[in-house]
Amino acid sequence: MARISRRISAIAPSATLAVDARAKELRAQGAPVISFGAGEPDFPTPEYILDAARAAVGDPRNHRYSPAGGLPELREAIAAKTLRDSGYSVDPSQVVVTNGGKHAVYNAFAVLLDPGDEVLLPAPYWTTYPEAIALAGGVGVEVSTAAADGFMVSVDQLEAALTPRTKALVFVSPSNPTGAVYPRDRVEAIGRWAAAHNVWVITDEIYEHLTYDDHEFSSIPVVVPELADRCLVINGVAKTYAMTGWRVGWMIGPPDAVSATVGLQSHQTSNVGNVSQRAALAAVSGSLDAVAGMRTAFDRRRRAMHRLLDGIDGVTCMKPQGAFYAFPSFEGVLGRPGIPGTTAELAAWILDEAQVAIVPGEAFAGAGHARLSFALSDEDLDEGIGRIAEVLG
Ligand code: PMP
Repeated sequence: MARISRRISAIAPSATLAVDARAKELRAQGAPVISFGAGEPDFPTPEYILDAARAAVGDPRNHRYSPAGGLPELREAIAAKTLRDSGYSVDPSQVVVTNGGKHAVYNAFAVLLDPGDEVLLPAPYWTTYPEAIALAGGVGVEVSTAAADGFMVSVDQLEAALTPRTKALVFVSPSNPTGAVYPRDRVEAIGRWAAAHNVWVITDEIYEHLTYDDHEFSSIPVVVPELADRCLVINGVAKTYAMTGWRVGWMIGPPDAVSATVGLQSHQTSNVGNVSQRAALAAVSGSLDAVAGMRTAFDRRRRAMHRLLDGIDGVTCMKPQGAFYAFPSFEGVLGRPGIPGTTAELAAWILDEAQVAIVPGEAFAGAGHARLSFALSDEDLDEGIGRIAEVLG
């Protein structure tokens, strides 16, 4: 008998959080560490959201349990926001409020998967998906994409990976970690393919507002309406409103999946903290002005990061199209004299030598690459990439 369950022992701890924790630890010891590790905006949460939270603290209604699926006002506001932002028309009863988008990811797999069910997972992928799939007893089936294809999966690749056990597809655009944004015609082709094969689509739209140049976000159940009955949309306030620490996300789905999720949450977490829900209510009900300002800053940093990385001999970088990550290839420098042979070793070496934290591609099934967040100050960005260039040079 195992002391710690096999199911939980099999989880690989989050590499992105580990890198960030190590960087923060070194910084606490006084080292001038620059971290490209964390996937969080460096801006404070906008003031109008803080005002709503302050008011909520003093209201005794928020001191009590509330419905496990979320405050009715918030579910309504999320339905309205979804129509406004992506054109997806849903009833408030189709929304479940969760403890961050990560919790929605976990719940989505928990409610859909039986043991052995397969989930198509285009790689490189955000590190949480395979763990959440495995925790639910499912089997993640990696479908590899390359920089040469813009890190986008094709219908042919999905078709080749399809088996009688295929239950779902994970679709993420804009993507963490690659920064790819699927054009509308590819979104449509993939959506139609999934609908034709009765494959559920779990689509993570958490970076919907962060796209650059002429790249545009398209919501898969809007482009392919017949998918709605087998589609779970994941989203949250973390990235759009600089609210990573507030822990409010949501899932939108058909009524049976939603009532199953609410049932799960009723035993698992009960309601998400009411003060955070009230803050999220202000966020999604307000204007998108603050988001536009943050996007302008991210865009500037994106260009700088791309230019600086691409200028390092042996490093190549696709220009990020969305989210706030660059995913350069270090294949041209690995194994050079004095330089480690894998990106996992390279990341540890760069942290030691340059006191700069980057997340190795191994964490995302993208060895040879590394993920660098550009959600940090312009000065740190310049200094950090400069240091990497120096140790590699
Ligand atoms: N989805 C993606 C693709 C993400 O990058 C993240 C955060 N790294 C999340 C979901 C979860 O965000 P949160 O739990 O903070 O809402």
